[in-house]
Amino acid sequence: MKKLNFIVILIGLTTVALKSNANPIIEVPKTNLIDSAKKVVTDPVCKMKIKANVSKTAIYNKVTYNFCSESCKQKFVAEPANYVKK
Ligand SMILES: [Zn+2]
Repeated sequence: MKKLNFIVILIGLTTVALKSNANPIIEVPKTNLIDSAKKVVTDPVCKMKIKANVSKTAIYNKVTYNFCSESCKQKFVAEPANYVKK
């Protein structure tokens, strides 16, 4: 029975891991961004210094990221782990 329990736990962990990898990005609600509109931030994709822009942001792991362009945002949304330090 011990072996069976182990397998069940393993399957459970794998499921959790897969779920946490499943696209955690949420579009930013616009009401939340009044403060960040004046800040200068770094685009995590191309490392350019940019002004925080309401229309080109994504939230990953509860952090808001800003992008210089829609294409940088799309790259980030596709593979956020490539651009965010863990
Ligand atoms: Zn960029």
